[in-house]
Amino acid sequence: TSALNDIAASIRTIPDYPKPGVQFRDITTLLGNARAFRRTIDELVQPWAGAKIDQVAGIEARGFIIGGAVAHQLSAGFVPIRKKGKLPYDTVSMSYALEYGTDEMEMHVDAVGKGDRVILVDDLIATGGTAEGAVKLLRQRGAIVEAACFIIDLPELGGAAKLRALDVPVRTLVTFE
Ligand code: 5GP
Repeated sequence: TSALNDIAASIRTIPDYPKPGVQFRDITTLLGNARAFRRTIDELVQPWAGAKIDQVAGIEARGFIIGGAVAHQLSAGFVPIRKKGKLPYDTVSMSYALEYGTDEMEMHVDAVGKGDRVILVDDLIATGGTAEGAVKLLRQRGAIVEAACFIIDLPELGGAAKLRALDVPVRTLVTFE
């Protein structure tokens, strides 16, 4: 659709960032474009309009921006999933795969309740390691992960397939090879 074409056109590509050979998809140009930002949020929430979603979980840091807007539109709460050591109260943590090695992400222990219906949000899915860690963290606390939503999919890296194999429905708006 033309809405999705507009969204794709608003994303800037930075060659060789953060290192040679990587094409970084920069969403600051999308966020700064009022029409593209609104359309992005509208497209992400569209399947969930009228659904009973308790919480939107956003992954630090760009997932906070998208997730906050999605939560508002769905009249849901917002749950931040953060890098280790950033959250002030008691946390649960999960290690997740990076390109080289692993890292840990955390969530407040009382952020979701057993049986809460949660949508996970981030800007981009690549290998899916980050989103997989977040799904495990949410499920460990008894939440039901209704879906994972991303603006950008890099399908060659297999992340969306990995999430679907975990029985998480995946919604993405724009694909880059
Ligand atoms: P994954 O764990 O799926 O391999 O990587 C996804 C994570 O890395 C997301 O949190 C995403 O924000 C970040 N990321 C990786 N590459 C890019 C990129 O090209 N553009 C943006 N905006 N984020 C990226």
